Amino acid sequence: MAAKARMLIFLGDGMAGRPLPELDGRTTLEATDTPSFDRVASEGACGMLNPISPGVAAGSDTAHMAILGYEPYEYYRGRGPFEAKGVGLEVNAGDVAFRCNFATVENGEVLENRAVIDRRAGRIKERTDELRQTINQQIPEIDGVKVLFKESVEHRCALVLRGEGLDEHITDVDPHAEEPTDYHECKPLPGYEEDEAAKRTARIVNQFVERSRKALNGHPLNQAREADDLKPANIILPRGVGTAVELEPFAERYKLSGALIVEVDLVRGLGLYLGMDVVTCEGATGGDDTDELAIAASVVSTFEDHDFVLANIKAPDLGGHDGNVEQKIAAIQKVDRALGYVLDNMDFDRAVVILAADHATPISVRDHSGDPVPAAFFGYGVTPDDVQSYGERACAQGYLGHFCGSDVMSILGNYAGAGEKYGA
Ligand code: ZN
Ligand code: ZN
Repeated sequence: MAAKARMLIFLGDGMAGRPLPELDGRTTLEATDTPSFDRVASEGACGMLNPISPGVAAGSDTAHMAILGYEPYEYYRGRGPFEAKGVGLEVNAGDVAFRCNFATVENGEVLENRAVIDRRAGRIKERTDELRQTINQQIPEIDGVKVLFKESVEHRCALVLRGEGLDEHITDVDPHAEEPTDYHECKPLPGYEEDEAAKRTARIVNQFVERSRKALNGHPLNQAREADDLKPANIILPRGVGTAVELEPFAERYKLSGALIVEVDLVRGLGLYLGMDVVTCEGATGGDDTDELAIAASVVSTFEDHDFVLANIKAPDLGGHDGNVEQKIAAIQKVDRALGYVLDNMDFDRAVVILAADHATPISVRDHSGDPVPAAFFGYGVTPDDVQSYGERACAQGYLGHFCGSDVMSILGNYAGAGEKYGA
């Protein structure tokens, strides 16, 4: 059945939290003046959203998967494939993919020396495409496995391994340390030591790293960098491995033309993976300085040729990770202003929105937590309840009670008149 209304998922990344003594026992959401959030809550139906399931701290990737209706416990096998897709690499089901850094290893020519003195190669910004060309020429395959490699912005890059007998149960090479630290040998994860595919994949990764050193050491770009007193990008350090799985494209599953306007590359990669249109918004920086009204304007214009949009503003999550109350409050206000623009410029007699967060990032935790997040549905088809403001404890009093991320598409579809009857 064709939907009677457009559907919008509007998320403030990590916007939910926990009560803070310095806010007199309120959460940052409860303490922030959010007129647009409160309008949606007071005219709509509220509840508490458990992004994956109660108590599970979700990553942004798994939370977005669940909210888009792709059960992460069934489909998620690591972030690498979404990273690689986001960078523009072709990723097929069965591929093993990684995100990587260009990094600086001390004495690049002495292979026994594994000390990484800068895991971002001096935050290299330019000409990494030349390094990629060299890698592509010199390492087209390893042991019968096809190697695809591409640079992203700054020191970031991605790697895809394609071939038989590969497995993602292996460790990271990147030491994840800011101090000089040896990079790790890739090994099968505990419990997979005897797994032939994991052993083979680890061997191939180690060969890739060693061959990247040989290819990049003495590269003209690195010679030029060293002459300018810049750190050479003389090694590639893979991490965040994942196996690509078959995911039913969003358009096929829901019969909707869907678009994503998000500031997190990983989630953009997920959208591309699902065959959704990933809209690039000028002014969306992914930081505290993001242009929230530009994002809001692109939400409105994207509905001209789509019937589903998911938008996510990243800034509140940053304040949560930094443990900075003022920063998080300012970021929440940005999300509220963006929603205000959308409310003013779209007809909600013909559209339905859910306002929520992809997970909580409480100031007191400085990371994602497994708390439920407040959610409010507003617009076409929605039965209003008595909740008057948007916040953790206010929304817990709402009509929808508790639900999970994987319920969101059904609830939206039900309001929009797109749901199909289950049974006779
Ligand atoms: Zn997130
Ligand atoms: Zn986060």
